[in-house]
Amino acid sequence: MTAAGRAACVIGWPIEHSRSPLIHNYWLKTYGIAGEYRREAVPPGEFRAFLQSLAARGYVGANVTLPHKEAALACSQPDDCARAVGAANTLWLDNGVLRSTNSDVEGFLDNLDTCVPGWDRGLGKAAVLGAGGAARAVIHGLLQRGIAHIAAVNRTAARAEALRQRFDARVHPCGWQERNAALADAALLVNATTLGMTGQPDLDIDIGRLPSKAIVADLVYAPLLTPLLRAARARDLRTADGLGMLLHQAVRGFLLWFGKKPEVTAQLRALVEADIAE
Ligand code: NAP
Repeated sequence: MTAAGRAACVIGWPIEHSRSPLIHNYWLKTYGIAGEYRREAVPPGEFRAFLQSLAARGYVGANVTLPHKEAALACSQPDDCARAVGAANTLWLDNGVLRSTNSDVEGFLDNLDTCVPGWDRGLGKAAVLGAGGAARAVIHGLLQRGIAHIAAVNRTAARAEALRQRFDARVHPCGWQERNAALADAALLVNATTLGMTGQPDLDIDIGRLPSKAIVADLVYAPLLTPLLRAARARDLRTADGLGMLLHQAVRGFLLWFGKKPEVTAQLRALVEADIAE
């Protein structure tokens, strides 16, 4: 810790795009906490050494983003959540021990709880698109909430199969060509692919196949209103967006590093929305 207070950072490669400094520095200012949150651009070959020197660099912890989330797990003492997901995104020093968790799980769940209270009550089937770290966090969260049937739809079939091996038989792997059929009876659709992101191809899916009371969540937050969310709203389906998840996943790190559980407010959301709109 420095005279200026505690410091934390987000580590990635590249890292310029990260909105985490905006979020954490807003909370530091709002709560009048002396501290700092910075960006650290660290290439994969230097990641382990960087973590080993975290305390020497004056940090009490860090967020980790692409491409380091799996390496962060291997270089730290993960909790059950990070171990189950196979990736860590929040690290903190605990008496010299580097511990980690995966706050994408609670970020996803807390955002849905906020946007669609009671969403998990009696929810039988969910369809999750994608099989990367984000999809694993979503599936772990859904299983925690007792969802009995999760259709795991992915372009690379072997990665969807691997999800069933990682989790359990409630996860049903589906090929990409089966994505529309997988929506029948799904009370929740989650996009955990990169499709729909600015600069990426659109997500080509027929959400007309979803039941009329279904909920649609998109992890993509740039653009804020993805074509998937736009189509869902046009059908009057309830939605949860990726920015909400991003804000909620940040709560745990701030609490661990700075000792205060921060609130996800409309003012914070507006600040980050404006930054994304730029
Ligand atoms: P990742 O590990 O790179 O996984 C990307 C996924 O997208 C894979 O399943 C991949 O399929 C699929 N995909 C990519 N291009 C595709 C295409 N043309 N057609 C079909 N599928 C395609 O990424 P990740 O870390 O899991 O992140 C996924 C998304 O979640 C990103 O947009 C990320 O920004 C977002 N995210 C948001 C939050 C938040 O807080 N809102 C948190 C974490 C992640 P293959 O397996 O076939 O390659």
